[in-house]
Order: sequence, then structure tokens, then C-alpha cells
Amino acid sequence: ASVAVMVVLAAVGCTSDSSDDEAPQGGSESGTIALLLPETQTTRYESADRPYFEARMAKICPDCKVLYSNADQDSAAQQNQAEQAMTNGAKVLVLDPVDGEAAAVIARNARDRGVRVVSYDRLIQKAPVDAYVSFDNEKVGQLQGQSLLDAIGDRAGAGKVIMINGSQDDPNAQQFKDGALSVLEGKVTIGFDTFTPDWSPDTAGREMDQAITTVGRENIVGVYAANDGMAGAVVAALRRANVTPLPPVTGQDAELAGVQRVLAGDQHMTVYKAIRPEAEQAADLALALLRGEPVDTIATGRVDNGNGQVPSVLLEPVAVTRDTVAETVVKDGFLAKADLCAGT
Ligand code: BGC
Repeated sequence: ASVAVMVVLAAVGCTSDSSDDEAPQGGSESGTIALLLPETQTTRYESADRPYFEARMAKICPDCKVLYSNADQDSAAQQNQAEQAMTNGAKVLVLDPVDGEAAAVIARNARDRGVRVVSYDRLIQKAPVDAYVSFDNEKVGQLQGQSLLDAIGDRAGAGKVIMINGSQDDPNAQQFKDGALSVLEGKVTIGFDTFTPDWSPDTAGREMDQAITTVGRENIVGVYAANDGMAGAVVAALRRANVTPLPPVTGQDAELAGVQRVLAGDQHMTVYKAIRPEAEQAADLALALLRGEPVDTIATGRVDNGNGQVPSVLLEPVAVTRDTVAETVVKDGFLAKADLCAGT
């Protein structure tokens, strides 16, 4: 690691034990809740969302059962998993849909069976949903756009920005893009702009190859990549094409590999979304629904999903650059210092 990186690593400090805040104590009640996550290529789902959700449920309702499935980006498979969970007794679905529109079928089937639905991270469109927990997703895009703009600085007029967006069937992808454009529009020229089916890093790499060919490698002043998985592929494509110095590249999720790239200077920024409170709020909402209690004591607002106003919790995302790794993801116990150091 370079001297600059060592200095940054030294500033990272020690991981503090994340202390548990008081949770409602579970009684002798029981019930079955299903957690249905969308994919496995992005590390958050298996390494953060799932364990945090299960730990919270075990704490607030020790006798509750959590059924887990991951759809691996297959919307039809997710529908089967949801049906299976309901057949196996799930009374609440915590559903992060592969496809926000297609998942309406799942939500309607659930309603017909008297099963409650929490829309998790991505909002199920145009169907009855009992609660929604996510981040302020436009804000995610604004943080990405602003950080990119700051990094481009006075080179804005010297070339073009490439936009590698997420999957179009994920409603979050459009919100991230809208947020980013709200900052970038009028300040930079977008030279290449595409969505990426399934948020696939491999596809993002090919898109970046194409962008380099279209725009010309000397004309790229910055790359908006919607998440860390795709940012990794974008950086690899820029390297293959010998683009030096690397232009600033954005990301999202504060994945271990993403933050390592940020520390190494290969990726300009990522967005830290604190998955722990997101998963814990989802568990709290699920238990309230299982008990037949109102969710308004937990929800802090409402979001329209085209079917009605859904009681919602929207958490704040945080931009992370090299200088703020220590005070964000490390301080919060989201990533361990030892793991970050291992990759540099
Ligand atoms: C999530 C992101 C994630 C992406 C790909 C989005 O809906 O909000 O955190 O990177 O899906 O799974």
C-alpha cells in the first residue's frame, strides 16, 4: 500500500462493538415471517440484510420462525418462493422485489390470503403493501452526483460523463439516476447513458467497453456507476483500455471490495446505507403486522406506490470518500478495519 493509503488506514481506527439498542422484548408468541431477497451478486443481501434481520427477529420474537429465500435475480422464481413461504405458513412477507412491477402479483396474492407485506428496500408498485422501509433513494443519487461533480472539478468542460445505471425493473435504479441528474444536469455532458439488466457487473463491464469506444478514452471525465458491483467492472474496463489517470467513478453499498477500491484510489466514492437499521426496522414492522398492531408508531412518513399511501421509513444515506471511511463504515461497525487492511 502507498504511503497515502497507509495514512488513511491508520486513521481508520478500531472497530467498536456496535451496542444493541433496547428492543421490545418478545413474549411467548410465535408466527412465521418470510424474508425474500432479490439477488446474490451484491454482497449486502447475504452478508448484512439477512443476518441483521434474523438477529433482530430472534431477539424480539424468539419463538417466531423466519423463512429465507433469495431469488438470484429471477422474478418468476421469486413469485414461487413467495407462494411456497405462504404455503409453509408465513403470515408476513418481507419482500425485496426483483421486479417492482411484477411483484404486484405477489402482493395481491398475499392480500387475498390475509398475509401482510413489507416492501423491503425496493418499492412494490401498484399493489396493496402494508409498510415500506428503505433509504431516501433520490438522495443516494444526489450524493453520487455531487461527489462526482466535485471530483471532476474544472475538467467538466474537457470531456463527457458516462452513466451506467442499475436495472430498469428495480424502481430504485430510476430514483438513483434522477437524483444524480438533478445535480449533474447543466454542469456536465452525458456522453453515454444506459441501464444494466439485473445489475450485472459483467454487463456493466461490457457497457463500459462500449462507452469507451463511443466516447473515446481520452474524453471521459467521470463515470457514474450506480453501485459497487458495477463500479468494480467499470474500473476493470478502464484499466483494460489503459485509461490513465483513472477518471472518478462512483458506487454504492460500501461493499468491502468497493471501500478497498476507494482506499486504494481506484474508485472515488461509495454510498453507505446502514443496512442494520434498515433490516431491524423491517423486522419490527413485520412483528407489528404479525401481531395485528398498527405500523404508524414505527413508520415516519408515507410513500405513494400507485395503489395508495404506504406507511414508510426512509433512512439517510451517507457519501463515503477516502477521507471519511473511518468516521462512517468503520465507526459504525459495518466493515472491520482488519478486513479493509487485508485487501490493500
Ligand atoms: C439496492 C442497492 C443494490 C442494488 C442491486 C438496489 O435496489 O438499493 O443497494 O446495490 O439494488 O442489488
